[in-house]
Amino acid sequence: MYLYINDGKVEIRDATHLWGLNTKETWQVLKEETGEDKLRVVAIGPAGERVSLIACPINDGHRAPGRGGGGAVMGSKKLKAIAVRGTGEIPVAHLEKVIEINKKVAAAMKNNEVAQAFGTYGTGVGTTQSALSGDSPVKNWAGVGIVDYGEEEAAKNNAIVTDKYKTKKYHCASCPLGCGAEYSVPDGRWPLEETDRPEYETYASFGSTLLCSEVDAILKCNDLCNLYGLDTISAGMTIAWAMECYNEGVLSREELDGIDLRWGDGEAIVAIMEKMAKGEGVGAILANGSLYAAKYFGKGEEYLQTASGIELPMHDPRFAPGLARTYKYDPTPGRHVKGGLGSVQMIGAEERDKYDYRNTGDMDLKLTASTEVMNASSLCYFGGMFMPLEAQNEYIEAITGIKFDEETSFLTGLRILNMRHAFNVREGIRPKDLTISDRAIGRPPLKEGPLANVTIDIDLLAKNFFEKAQWDLETGKPSLEILKKLGGLEEVVNDLYGAEALL
Ligand code: SF4
Repeated sequence: MYLYINDGKVEIRDATHLWGLNTKETWQVLKEETGEDKLRVVAIGPAGERVSLIACPINDGHRAPGRGGGGAVMGSKKLKAIAVRGTGEIPVAHLEKVIEINKKVAAAMKNNEVAQAFGTYGTGVGTTQSALSGDSPVKNWAGVGIVDYGEEEAAKNNAIVTDKYKTKKYHCASCPLGCGAEYSVPDGRWPLEETDRPEYETYASFGSTLLCSEVDAILKCNDLCNLYGLDTISAGMTIAWAMECYNEGVLSREELDGIDLRWGDGEAIVAIMEKMAKGEGVGAILANGSLYAAKYFGKGEEYLQTASGIELPMHDPRFAPGLARTYKYDPTPGRHVKGGLGSVQMIGAEERDKYDYRNTGDMDLKLTASTEVMNASSLCYFGGMFMPLEAQNEYIEAITGIKFDEETSFLTGLRILNMRHAFNVREGIRPKDLTISDRAIGRPPLKEGPLANVTIDIDLLAKNFFEKAQWDLETGKPSLEILKKLGGLEEVVNDLYGAEALL
């Protein structure tokens, strides 16, 4: 079935004719059959239909809410797509004010060189630098950029290099930056008539993580993930796991369907990615992620780089230690878009020594809460990096007409965070059940390179955060006091403390 929402009218329609189509074909067919050229579609591809555990829905053919298997959820419910068209007005409390903030935001972006580079080349603009600085993981998190990848190879993999393929800029609705782009690769090993520019996470997960600098292979893998509906981070990282297993003699060539999966080999990477996208042979196993594959083969768990089972994203906590707390303890672990202390350490915006683990809780909690508000209000994480700090709250106040100062924003973010966290607590997940792979926290530390000798005190980072959040480190429970202070969380109080706690 697919869900069709047209100016408020909701229909569940038959999608038998869409089953088996890729995400772009689905979008096109739905536009034609509804007669709505401006139709917006989020759809799963064949990977989601097969309920691959790393499948994700794809929006507008290439934007992906990638992490955590949302495509598998849609596939399991036989929901092929959600198609939306609306022509109504969006009510805004103070339109003049919104226009005024828009102008301020656009000017700030225009006057910021980094924002302009970001608008021109997208999130992959600094991939090379990230691989060399230690920001990007290298060789399945065991390598060092300047040593194992090398400056020359790293320089071949970024969005400035691939800009020659750009045919058109892509903007999400009304965004002044427009960090997306459409590409066309006319020739070579994998010509792609129409494709989309990879994001940083994709350049890194198929690049430095696999020691691959063959950008045509990376563009092809990105295209396959978009069309079949797979999370590029989990796909790249699952290949990294298989690659290390193969190169260490844990998985044989026969077990990989005859593919010689050597480090950095673009042909081999594309061959295995194609199998994953189509669910063929060993690809049907790997398309469920690295943990599933390790369990299936009964070996290779020592090479998993995961947070509570999901493949780690492409910013290394050894470079920005706060990320270790976020990756391990966020209610949806292993996310690079959940804020926290690591988000400012990553861009060098924290003033104190980032490896000083004392007193991190306050800032960690504030930055996490603010990101919850950003995500929930559907502001863009990337765009947000270049907006004046106060603009987020100003927008919310101008649009809703509700007073939204710093304190309100903080409490709102905490309310969202506590709600998400309480879900896990109610389902029996305790802090001790959450895991992060040793390499990501420097156990053992790297011996050379910019991250040499870094071991992260994850326990202290967690303790600081839990104390500030008023969460119990044993049970995970938010204190009754904080839940009542935040307000509006009566159902959470009821579930975690019982009805009598409401009296
Ligand atoms: S809204 Fe964000 S993701 Fe979309 S084009 Fe703008 S900066 Fe890029």
